[in-house]
Amino acid sequence: MSLSDKFFYTPAGIKLRAYGGLGVFTKYHKMQGPGFSIKESSKHHIWVDTPDRELFITDQTLSEHAHYPEGFHEFSNLSHIHSHPSRDLGLKYVMLNYTDHVSRYGNAAVRRLGAHVEGSKIFVDSGGFQLAHQDLDFIDPAKEIEWLNKNADLAMVLDIPTDDKRFIKRSARIQKLNNDLWLKSKREDLKLINIGHGIGEDFMRYHDMVFDQRIDRIALGGVFFMGLFPAMYNILYVMLHTNEHYKHHHILGVTHRGAMMALMYMAKLGLSPMITCDSSSALQLSCYRTLYLYNRMEESLYMQDLGNKGNYSTGIAKLPCGCPVCSTLVYADTFRELKGDIPDALVCMHNVYAFNDWVQHNLEFIDKEPKDKIKESLTGQFKGGYGMQGVKDMHALLDFIDMAVSDGLEKARKRYDRYFYQVKPLVPSTMLTEQERLMKLEEGVQEAVDVPDEWTEQVISNYEKYHGVK
Ligand SMILES: [Zn+2]
Repeated sequence: MSLSDKFFYTPAGIKLRAYGGLGVFTKYHKMQGPGFSIKESSKHHIWVDTPDRELFITDQTLSEHAHYPEGFHEFSNLSHIHSHPSRDLGLKYVMLNYTDHVSRYGNAAVRRLGAHVEGSKIFVDSGGFQLAHQDLDFIDPAKEIEWLNKNADLAMVLDIPTDDKRFIKRSARIQKLNNDLWLKSKREDLKLINIGHGIGEDFMRYHDMVFDQRIDRIALGGVFFMGLFPAMYNILYVMLHTNEHYKHHHILGVTHRGAMMALMYMAKLGLSPMITCDSSSALQLSCYRTLYLYNRMEESLYMQDLGNKGNYSTGIAKLPCGCPVCSTLVYADTFRELKGDIPDALVCMHNVYAFNDWVQHNLEFIDKEPKDKIKESLTGQFKGGYGMQGVKDMHALLDFIDMAVSDGLEKARKRYDRYFYQVKPLVPSTMLTEQERLMKLEEGVQEAVDVPDEWTEQVISNYEKYHGVK
């Protein structure tokens, strides 16, 4: 069994609403001048003429009322939930968000919308994120499990995320009650993933409160905001101290690529039969029209900003990438000339391809090479972005993991104590320039999300009322 059967990258936050129906029709013509002209556009489509082809780009290929052009030569399906791109990507799990899906498509089945992916499984994010981010103050657990029974292969349980000491006990109780309800009414082969929250002692307490013998998969977060070592400590705690109860560990929100490599290393050590991890960097970067580019020779993933016209000297510069998005669009200016959500969606899909390429290459490398080579590769890949201190920290992280396995987690915790106090400050995103924000994102610093106490109180009491526990 190779490492690519034990570790799976799942692009996160790629909403079905905006990106699920993405596709491009192409009509070739003779090479003409370097100009680009928009022939037609709406919220859902753009028809653009480029030097050697007309492109009709739409995000409506899942819609029954879609308008398609006539006389075009080719169609490229760029929807991440359609079987072709998904097979190209080799993504085993396609992640959807329940609340996004329902707000857009009501109860329409995912599979009827073309989201049947051969060999891939539908992995559903149940909506806790939306509760915590003040999008919704209640999601009906009974309605959701009905929908999951029809559509999902794998689903995270319905939690109320909080790291606040004052709410953590009540939030764990609600999660437990939601879990009881779902376990009673779920389809037999629908797999549930329990969720852990909190930092340090709170994390252990929370995990013990929501632990359920009947749920053998767990999702853990925090890589994004509690710092690498404390987050890895939580993950190792669950991997090493639950008597191999879990056969699947899902790590939420891993944008730090060094952290992702550490997780691949944990899979190599056999600390979990299966690790999945979701990352929203592909999507985040697309908001700034920034491309991830991956050059196997250099073994590094780098970023190129398309927003700056100075990057290309002529109007017909070709995109330096052969993914299905770039080989359809061909010209960098096609991205640049277009306005609105559709070009962002295209950049996002390109980023998913590039990022996944990087993941696959590293899986292959980590699988076959010994630790000193893996450390060398970390140095090569990250000294530019994180500096030598960042590389040293990554090396220490691998040593910490090894020591936790050989000498126990507490001993390793003591040995690497200094890393547990480097808590990164929360930075409000509005105070940063776009480039600074991208760098912060790469370093794994969280945007400050300030959830007012009244909001958390409201959400929790909605569920307490629902379950009749208050
Ligand atoms: Zn590309």
